[in-house]
Amino acid sequence: MRCEILAVGTELLLGHIVDTNSSWIARRLALAGIDSHFQTKVGDNLDRIVQAIEIALNRSEAVIVCGGLGPTHDDLTRNAIARVMGTELVRDSRIVDRIRNMFKERGRVMANNNLTQADIPIGATAIPEQPGTAAGLICPIGEKIIYAVPGVPSEMMAMVDGTIINALRRKAGVSAIIRTRTLRTWGTSESLLAELVAPRISALEAIGNPTIAFQASGIEGIKIKITAKATAEEEVNKILSREENQIRALIGNLVFGVDDNNMEASILQLLEERGLTLAIAESLTGGMLGSRLTDVPGASKVFKGAIVTYANDLKFELLNVSKGPVVSELCAREMATGVRKLLAADVGVSVTGVAGPSEQDYQPVGTVFVGLAIHNQIFSKQLLLPPPRQRIREFTIINALNFLRLNLT
Ligand code: ATP
Ligand code: MG
Repeated sequence: MRCEILAVGTELLLGHIVDTNSSWIARRLALAGIDSHFQTKVGDNLDRIVQAIEIALNRSEAVIVCGGLGPTHDDLTRNAIARVMGTELVRDSRIVDRIRNMFKERGRVMANNNLTQADIPIGATAIPEQPGTAAGLICPIGEKIIYAVPGVPSEMMAMVDGTIINALRRKAGVSAIIRTRTLRTWGTSESLLAELVAPRISALEAIGNPTIAFQASGIEGIKIKITAKATAEEEVNKILSREENQIRALIGNLVFGVDDNNMEASILQLLEERGLTLAIAESLTGGMLGSRLTDVPGASKVFKGAIVTYANDLKFELLNVSKGPVVSELCAREMATGVRKLLAADVGVSVTGVAGPSEQDYQPVGTVFVGLAIHNQIFSKQLLLPPPRQRIREFTIINALNFLRLNLT
């Protein structure tokens, strides 16, 4: 049982939009254990869409066509499928009602051409989920099947998760499930990480399940992805946990989070476990650090606030920093202590440095100092980060948070 994905839209071919729908569907198919060997993109042209569907049906048992279900003349997916099925389009009165109701509920006037969205090939049925005006289609052709879903990502996702994946799994008689666990690391290079994990890589080459892969993700760090296959959820989780433990034994505290837990979320969780509150003093990041922390839901349990002391005078006046060079280890330490006291927090973190374009306090661009006050213990660290300016600021944040993490554990 193989399923391929066909994305329709001239904008995809022109590079105006990126085909994120295909990659999203591909991940869903992989998770469901359904083989998918080809992905195609085709423009809004009837003959070429027909041709692409026929090619796909020749080599796969199922095709998911995404896009081209809109109401305008360049939305041709319905017509193309009808031609492949060797039938005509008929107007489906239940879909007509759905569309009319949708406009009525939103108090909007319906254009006549919206009803073309209720035209479906004879022999096809509508996908039950229909969040928008475009109906998704289930179109059997002999033993094979075509699904059509809208290009609007949220509508496409509702149909794939609601109907298509389950139907494909049943059709395939798939019982294997595949799951991935991501270990997020910070603090070393990809090649050093690979060296540390090498014993597991060679051991797994012989076993074949699970597998591990590295993914360098910029300011998100380097991810180690463990992928396992099994017949039941419980079993697949057991394999993943066993491998996670093996890898952690090799790389220890380089791992800062698992799956969707980013650095900010991990730090806040760690502080919450310790019953510690956090205050931030920012200079070169201008509020980005506080902003990133408050992106995490529930941050208020731990995070008291951030003070952006961009001008030197503010550092001296608000945070009680001694007069002198502000791009310095001493300044970072005093900022951390100052903000911790001012905001009555257990932990103070500070960042001060030169984001560029020109040097400051005789320090080259990219010089950053991180200060840390955990109750009365003071720590600091110097970083040298590569330009440009925005990158220096972003790397400052993750490095500062990681420094805090390492000093809490
Ligand atoms: P529908 O069938 O819902 O009308 P369509 O492809 O005809 O879909 P478009 O007007 O082309 O509709 O696209 C609607 C929205 O969906 C746009 O915001 C577009 O960016 C997005 N979109 C369409 N195809 C894709 C794709 N393959 N990947 C990501 N986004 C897409
Ligand atoms: Mg389109």
